Amino acid sequence: TALPVRARRASPAVHPLAPRMVATEPPRTTRLWTPHSWRTMPIKQLPKYPDQKALREMEQRLERSLPLVFSGECEALKELLAKASRGQAFVIQGGDCAESFKEFDAYGGKNISDTFTLVIQMSIMLMYALRRPVVKILRAAGQFAKPRSSPYEKKKNQELSLPSYRGDIINGSGFTQEERIPDPERMYKAFVQSTATINLLRTLASGGALDLHRVHDISLKFVRETSQGRKYAQYATDIDNAIAFMEAIGLQSDSYKVRQAEFYVSHESLLLPYEQALCRQDPITGKHYATSGHFLWLGDRTRQPDGAHVEFMRGISNPIGIKCGPTLTPDDLVQLLDILNPDNEPGRITLITRVGAGKVADNLPTFIETIKREGRDVVWSCDPCHGNTETTASGFKTRRFENIMQEVTEFFAVHESMGTYPGGVHLELTGQDVTECVGGMMELTDEDLKQRYETHCDPRLNASQALELALKLSEEMQN
Ligand code: PEP
Ligand code: MN
Repeated sequence: TALPVRARRASPAVHPLAPRMVATEPPRTTRLWTPHSWRTMPIKQLPKYPDQKALREMEQRLERSLPLVFSGECEALKELLAKASRGQAFVIQGGDCAESFKEFDAYGGKNISDTFTLVIQMSIMLMYALRRPVVKILRAAGQFAKPRSSPYEKKKNQELSLPSYRGDIINGSGFTQEERIPDPERMYKAFVQSTATINLLRTLASGGALDLHRVHDISLKFVRETSQGRKYAQYATDIDNAIAFMEAIGLQSDSYKVRQAEFYVSHESLLLPYEQALCRQDPITGKHYATSGHFLWLGDRTRQPDGAHVEFMRGISNPIGIKCGPTLTPDDLVQLLDILNPDNEPGRITLITRVGAGKVADNLPTFIETIKREGRDVVWSCDPCHGNTETTASGFKTRRFENIMQEVTEFFAVHESMGTYPGGVHLELTGQDVTECVGGMMELTDEDLKQRYETHCDPRLNASQALELALKLSEEMQN
């Protein structure tokens, strides 16, 4: 694929905000930011906690808690993302729509290690095919809060309407009034589960399980006999040979780059009381970081330039993502970048477009033109999941593999035609053999969905569908 046309830098002599500001408003970038400055701004999606005292006590408890990630790791990820913005790396971000308390206890960590293995397996395929580093970011260890389009929801064929489920960190998914009451204690449970999750991931990454000397073993058992599994085995044999050859001529194959997997964790920055409580100041640089995860993103429903979520994200130094749906206007996009990345730091911003299959050519060129015109550095990532959710006649929320694949293909085609670099994908997937998305080589049908429909939020690609996507992607990108 063609390398990106390097974006023009904004002239440093002109403040990027100058021509667009409304005269009465001081530019946001000159206003004081604190970890709590979001509290004076309009906020969407904030749950109404009935017990405010309990909420404050929980915030204080979390403020004293241990960080999950460190500033240096966030900066290292930013550097990798800067490479992706220049066309020198590819990003794969993936995991559950929402983590849950129930699944954590049910599988003894197997769901976590399987999803991790799957993402690593996909990244090995892509790395091998693209001859380029692949940055691995999991949607995990903190992906608990869910934005909802409606504050109330009904169960299928029932009259009773209850407050919407907002993710295990906020309330319960059970369909009772009591479960739906936001409970601050849930934040602590989510925090503890996140720390245990990142600990397991770090153990798997550095403890030998993902050593490329054992590349054939980095494969989920139930996909080995599928055609995707066999294709992976071919890649693995090639990698084995390459390592053996390196060793034969005395090149280092023993580096930690071969023995360990580098990964990062991410989630939507939605529940601001939680994010604020885990925000820490780096003692050396004085910069603030969200320590709840390496990479945080703004959801499509909470990216208002004058809203609380944007305000919080403005002051943290982590690399961040912005979900870009069809309703994002060029003006808002520019304002967001002015607020969130006034110095145009490379690697800081990943634009995650999610517009739906068949709609990419209508939406993406405008985003790209805006970014080119303004001379901004961004990573372009494609979320082919959230614009392609539908409900079947039998009431299952699903996604069609062909639509997911189509959105990815359209994303690549538009970038190709505009001379920009398609830098990554953002996927909802699981290492489990679930039946939540239809289609793919397994030809799952609407009828099959009921067999193993386990998500309590959005439908995820199962391991074989995810590998199929990675395979198609690596073939497409090689051409
Ligand atoms: C999500 O990523 O789970 C999500 C809710 O996405 P979006 O904000 O793009 O709708
Ligand atoms: Mn989702």
